[in-house]
Amino acid sequence: MHRFQRKGGKLYAEGVSLNGLADRFGTPLYVYSAGTISDHYRGLRQALRAVDPLICYSVKANSNLAILSLLARLGSGFDVVSGGELERVQQAGGQSAKCVFAGVGKTDEEIELGLRYGVKAFHVESEEEMDRIAMVAGRKARRRAPIALRVNPDIAAGGHAKITTGTYANKFGIPFEEVVSIYRRAGKDRRLCLRGVQMHIGSQITQGAPFRAAVRKMIPLVKQLKKEHGLEYFDIGGGVGIVYEDALASGRQGWWKTRQAQKAIPLSEYADSVVPLLKDLKMKILLEPGRFLVGNAGVLVTEVLYRKRTGRKNFVIVDAGMNDLLRPALYEAYHQIEPVGSPRKGTVSTDVVGPVCESGDVFCHDRGISPVDRGDRLAILSAGAYGFSMSSNYNTRPRPAEILVQGNRARVIRTREKVADLWRGEKKS
Ligand SMILES: *Cc1c(COP(=O)(O)O)cnc(C)c1O
Repeated sequence: MHRFQRKGGKLYAEGVSLNGLADRFGTPLYVYSAGTISDHYRGLRQALRAVDPLICYSVKANSNLAILSLLARLGSGFDVVSGGELERVQQAGGQSAKCVFAGVGKTDEEIELGLRYGVKAFHVESEEEMDRIAMVAGRKARRRAPIALRVNPDIAAGGHAKITTGTYANKFGIPFEEVVSIYRRAGKDRRLCLRGVQMHIGSQITQGAPFRAAVRKMIPLVKQLKKEHGLEYFDIGGGVGIVYEDALASGRQGWWKTRQAQKAIPLSEYADSVVPLLKDLKMKILLEPGRFLVGNAGVLVTEVLYRKRTGRKNFVIVDAGMNDLLRPALYEAYHQIEPVGSPRKGTVSTDVVGPVCESGDVFCHDRGISPVDRGDRLAILSAGAYGFSMSSNYNTRPRPAEILVQGNRARVIRTREKVADLWRGEKKS
């Protein structure tokens, strides 16, 4: 479910008109619905209540402080992949004891930071990294470094090669076969404390089967590790897929409850594929959803600048570009595009493109969208995850403002960048 819908033909985020927000704050503009994020957080907890999971929101999906703070107040923990993200969680009022620290390339400084803040555990991605964490802990801290190994179960999942992480062709995790011996070695190291075991097989997974296959493969290993080392938790990662096509219509139906809203995984199916296997482990279960919590909770509002035709195509040129929303260019990702005002009659086959000087700066190819004029606004839907957090200043473009809507209230949670912000730190001579 999400809380973007048409009222009197015009698009609203909860009780707030998107055209009104664009008038006030300009475009391009990210708009998030707080109610949608809460609904998704509570829906996920409810679906998996039989295992009472600790949800560790994957910060990289959307790291705005207001979003982190909202999730912290709901009781969420956090999955961070850099020292910077850990600092953000602190700033937002999140608890470090509910933070897990992942990533294949942690620096000494980041390890020290994690120790200082007292993270729940470092998720270790290689044997060399484990030794380094032990060394830094031995040198600096008075207490042991809490760790969990990230196991690569060698299961293919994920909608696109660039978001598959759980096979041996990927850089992530420790090969399944080596895990037991590495834990044994770690268990003898007095600088380390073995907390759990983790996996994360990919992103935008829309079937239960890969989750079930990976958990099933992991269970005997997890049981053995629990017995040998008294591990507290099994973290099954994130990756729960969301609706991108027909995202607007599916908002009303509650897309996670049905398959009607095609292609996404209903929460019940996700729960059914993992809960029965996890229940008799009698361990704490951790989840690391990113996209699921925030993806459908955000839109990118953009304004039409120009239209042009070539012999082959109709182009609509908008003021948002690939620097603002990279997913279509990076992953060939589909985002539904909807007029913010009342849709006009009919559809025109259109490429919606940004102003950035790259042929890849395209939000859709030959898609039938309702005809638009200069000054009309379009909403690029399902842009709440991996949207702003992947944005850049390419072409010296200031990044958009971000707005959080709650009911009839809208609040600026990040002001629009100014051009002068972009050369801060640079030296002319
Ligand atoms: C990116 C990532 C996640 C979140 O993935 P989603 O598909 O957004 O749920 C969770 N865990 C790890 C280790 C990640 O790298």
